Amino acid sequence: MTQQPMVLTPDQVNRYSRHIIMGDVGSKGQRNLLGAKALIVGAGGLGSPSAIYLALAGVGTIGIVDFDVVEISNLQRQILHHTSDIGRPKLDSARDNIISYNPDTNVVLHEVRLESHNAREIISQYDLVINGADNFATRYLVNDACYLEGKPLVDGSILIFDGQATLFLPGQGCYRCLFPEPPPPGEVPSCAEAGVLGMLPGLVGTIQATETVKLILDVGTSLASRLLLIDALDMEFRTVKLRRNPACPLCGDEPTVTELIDYEQFCAGASAEASANTVLEISPADFVSQRDSGWSPFLLDVRTSAEEQIVTLPGTDLRVSHLNILIEQHSLPKDRDIVVYCRTGGRSEAVASALSRVGFDSARLFNLAGGIHAWSDQVDSAVPKY
Ligand code: ZN
Repeated sequence: MTQQPMVLTPDQVNRYSRHIIMGDVGSKGQRNLLGAKALIVGAGGLGSPSAIYLALAGVGTIGIVDFDVVEISNLQRQILHHTSDIGRPKLDSARDNIISYNPDTNVVLHEVRLESHNAREIISQYDLVINGADNFATRYLVNDACYLEGKPLVDGSILIFDGQATLFLPGQGCYRCLFPEPPPPGEVPSCAEAGVLGMLPGLVGTIQATETVKLILDVGTSLASRLLLIDALDMEFRTVKLRRNPACPLCGDEPTVTELIDYEQFCAGASAEASANTVLEISPADFVSQRDSGWSPFLLDVRTSAEEQIVTLPGTDLRVSHLNILIEQHSLPKDRDIVVYCRTGGRSEAVASALSRVGFDSARLFNLAGGIHAWSDQVDSAVPKY
């Protein structure tokens, strides 16, 4: 970490007294925090609580990358900005509000869109990076740049009622180990399209800040090699193990990504590949008649837990939100046919396509055509067409 100040001032001793009396922090830990440099990508939902808590904790230098202007629709969750900030650049608003929380903080503003030509240079100035990116292109860019610069990446994402957080340490796995390629554009909706519960970024961003401070203090057990999954609707927290993938194009044994690429093109390219990938379909009527004559495929529901409570098809083996399917792919059998369903067949088709791209046999993957709605028409009219 960066050089720490040798002596705390009397004001600092008072301000950080609740830290200093902690055995795992103490005066030395607090000086480490004051000497640390953290970069936050995005002054939005995740970046807001991260920035505020890191400033309050005395993290000495906080860099922020953003180029947006505060809009009224941001205020439902982006606690770094106030109503009076509407129309201002987010960076100005972020700096003023961080300084009002803690004037000790050195706030460094990077008013740019993070891109391949500037990402490594900016990231290289910091000890670690907190990801608050809201799109896949930036997520892959930050992942690759952090790995190539050897910087820890505290990652987080949110959508609707779901959140995820993890810590990628260079050489111990990365985002590409988990998701070798981006989903086709449109397959995973954005928060602007699908919404997000206002306090969810508070929850995940605060976890990111906690992991950051633990990393600086070198205490506890981090989220490295684990992905924390948060389901705020059922208020369930669990972790799944993450492993470095030896075949990872970035951090694997024979990497093919050795410098930053064009991430917009990389993410757009996924759509062409996905549409070239045809998925087998089966109608609910055919599914039932074949199952009655002895076929026993694995039946996978890829809807949300809220939808599951409305209705579940008989014989469902597993429900996993389509957004988490690649994380949960190890729960699926590779030696059986798999039939995937959702409400009307769109998400399940995308899941079948995604599974075939990560190595499941496409001849054994079936999309239940028309989903629950077609089931209601063809098999059982008591099933609600919600
Ligand atoms: Zn990797």
